Amino acid sequence: GDSPLASPWAADFPILARPVRKRRLAYLDNGATTQKPGAVIQALEAFYEQSNANIHRGVHWLSQHATDLYEEARERVRVLLNAPDSQDVVFTRGTTEAINLVAQSWGQNVLRAGDEILVTGMEHHSNIVPWQLLCARTGAVLRHARITDTGELDLDDFRAQLNPRTRLVGIAHVSNALGTVNPVAELVRLAHEAGALVLVDGAQAVAHAPVDVQALDCDFYAFSGHKLYGPTGIGALYVRGAILAGMPPWQGGGDMIRTVSFEGSTWAAGPQRFEAGTPNIGGSVALGAAIDYVLSIGLERIAAHEAALLAEATERLRALPGVRLVGTAAHKAGILSFLVDGIHPHDLGTILDTEGVAIRAGHHCAMPLMSHFGIPGTARASFALYNDGRDIDALVAGVRKAQKLFGV
Ligand code: PMP
Repeated sequence: GDSPLASPWAADFPILARPVRKRRLAYLDNGATTQKPGAVIQALEAFYEQSNANIHRGVHWLSQHATDLYEEARERVRVLLNAPDSQDVVFTRGTTEAINLVAQSWGQNVLRAGDEILVTGMEHHSNIVPWQLLCARTGAVLRHARITDTGELDLDDFRAQLNPRTRLVGIAHVSNALGTVNPVAELVRLAHEAGALVLVDGAQAVAHAPVDVQALDCDFYAFSGHKLYGPTGIGALYVRGAILAGMPPWQGGGDMIRTVSFEGSTWAAGPQRFEAGTPNIGGSVALGAAIDYVLSIGLERIAAHEAALLAEATERLRALPGVRLVGTAAHKAGILSFLVDGIHPHDLGTILDTEGVAIRAGHHCAMPLMSHFGIPGTARASFALYNDGRDIDALVAGVRKAQKLFGV
């Protein structure tokens, strides 16, 4: 319709036309993964129909063609992040693998006993556990800066925890559990003053607003393709060029070497050094198509649409008696975490599901954050560019239905 909350892009997503539980699907679990536009599905199919071969070692035409497509996809990631050079972009399976790569390559090489890693209290487990494993191996110490009652980073505590032993700061650009947008540029400035590098977990950011790693001045930036309308199993890590040059390999095998002999091997320069074995070539090409898709719409427009959805959904849920929002930061992306008095988030999720409304219920892989709020989990609705006012109507109606069923 002509409602300001209508999405002109919903028709690009074939799955949204299928009924779920005999209802119109209101897909509000975009923080977990996004649906895929036809352009991405077709790019994946076209790769396997027209361009499939292994990369980087073939003399034949198709291999060179596939290599070109793979490297063009790397260039698309460079454009998305405004990285200075496509050689600063490493393909990974996703955010989790990107962070583990940094921990095992950079971290294992640099950290010594007593060094410190500082994260925030709102991190996803994938920006906590790799550092715990690294600390166990190196004797380094993992610290975390506290979160306020509104779900924002306590800047004073962050500053107080930074010290000359801090070697790395890990921060979510956007919290997957609360939607809080962290002031990354400011945090990077503070961390650099203290002599620490900064890794930004961009899993919940890249699909929802423009990202510029040069403006942020971060040293590492990780994201997953599947939360950016791309396929699962592909993502990327940006590494500042001067740092990447000094990082040792983390996995060995084909494609990451220059020479191999039984006396010893030498490593490929650039991102190839971190891409052992046959990579997800088709996935990277489809990720490139997903990036073209969002850039052709414009991330500013996407951000404006999702901000309007968030504002409307926030107001409508707030107006319901017995509903409590968790995370009320001044600067939020399109993620809404909430609790309904007398209804466990899982029960709420199950009742919403019967109405065709897909949300996430649970701890959102952020158990320390849930502990901070003293709750086991929340219900979470998270928006994407194809959501519209009808999805919010269905969410609100579903919550009311659950309240009636539970008599609360
Ligand atoms: N960080 C954040 C903030 C996330 O939301 C997620 C996915 N829920 C991840 C990291 C992990 O991403 P992936 O599972 O795609 O590696």
